[in-house]
Amino acid sequence: MDKTLAINGGTPVRSVKLPGPYPGASVYGKEEADAVTEVVMRKSPFRYYGVDVAGKVRDFEKMFRERHGRKYALACSSGTAALILGLIAVGVQPGDKVIVPANSFYATAGAVTVVGAVPVFCDINHSMNIDPETLDKMIDPLVKAVVVVPILGNPCQMDQIVAVCKKHGVHLIEDAAQSCGSKFHGQFSGTFGDVGTFSLQLNKIISSGEGGILMMDSDDYFERAARFHDQGSFREKALLPEIKDKPNQYLIGQNYRMSEVAGAIACEQLKKIDFIIGRMREIKKSIKDAVQPVLESYGVEFRTIIDEDGDAGSTVMMYMPTAEKAMAFHDALRAENIFCSHLYDRKPIYAAPSLLGQISAYENRFPFNQLTGENKVEYHMGMCPVAEDLLSRNVMIPLAPAFTDQDTEDIITGVLKVAKEILA
Ligand SMILES: *Cc1c(COP(=O)(O)O)cnc(C)c1O
Repeated sequence: MDKTLAINGGTPVRSVKLPGPYPGASVYGKEEADAVTEVVMRKSPFRYYGVDVAGKVRDFEKMFRERHGRKYALACSSGTAALILGLIAVGVQPGDKVIVPANSFYATAGAVTVVGAVPVFCDINHSMNIDPETLDKMIDPLVKAVVVVPILGNPCQMDQIVAVCKKHGVHLIEDAAQSCGSKFHGQFSGTFGDVGTFSLQLNKIISSGEGGILMMDSDDYFERAARFHDQGSFREKALLPEIKDKPNQYLIGQNYRMSEVAGAIACEQLKKIDFIIGRMREIKKSIKDAVQPVLESYGVEFRTIIDEDGDAGSTVMMYMPTAEKAMAFHDALRAENIFCSHLYDRKPIYAAPSLLGQISAYENRFPFNQLTGENKVEYHMGMCPVAEDLLSRNVMIPLAPAFTDQDTEDIITGVLKVAKEILA
């Protein structure tokens, strides 16, 4: 093997790039194709009526809630929509504060602002997920709900988080967009809080391109979410007769419905989820077994996994000794044709100029304008130092079930080659 790094003109470990790290889509096949064809041939792409509706979205909801053991599941158009619906379901109001982790995708904070509430950022710990002790200290009377995010397959510390939310009497929403199928102490992410939400976007563990789903046990939360997602109407009556159409639940809604085409793919993907996770966990274990001791001797840290048995295995996440090393390692590994990236551009969510400056779609800066005087919420860099430090040093290798044993070998070879040159 050529020891010279590809970035310095050497021969790369791989002559062709690794396949894209899209877990669900990487195992698309005849099953998804046939399911979509069925919807097309029945000329019925809309869930609620048509020539000959196959009921794919309804089937997906049923499979999803049965797998997770929750009373209700509502499929919708995206993970962002699922979050908005979850916040509406539990009754978050304009002017409320909602705590979100400093490390998440924009959508977690964006959804909060859409319902008129103000996101407040809580620091994380070495797991990359929200820190329960910091959370406990941050909850004040204006906080109506907490959104926790199991980042990249790593479940959150749910026993402590549930206890903190109970103690303060605030709603708990789990944004498990990236961690469908992960578990804490044997229980699925998305089944601990009042509401659990998921995304089916391309990067996620199962994917229909775009799509989302949320789950809950409360009849009232389900009816509010279902109404809001369908222009205020409640068409679930026929499907779920135990739910009453309650006039006191009427509300003006939007359109966050899932199409039958997405539903058809989602059903087939859900049937494959245990295979997807099983294979990714295997790949991750091979990589970590081979590289962890060597990299740790160079001062690299592997993120703390809160429950090894419940990790979805979708990512190898490392913290390099410094931000400079993280950038050098990333660039060198990519030049070897091993795909890696920096989570969230190495920055916490509030570093986005729109959030940092509280620039909404509205000239009066709604929702931020509602909290004034001593209740005013402001953001600044340095606010969540652990998140800023860990993110600045992060390099991640996203995995896919479609990786072959050779792909896994190449990742190991590439990581060790680059580590030796960049970190030793
Ligand atoms: C992807 C993601 C979302 C948004 O999902 P979309 O389907 O893209 O709208 C929300 N939260 C987290 C943590 C995500 O990773």
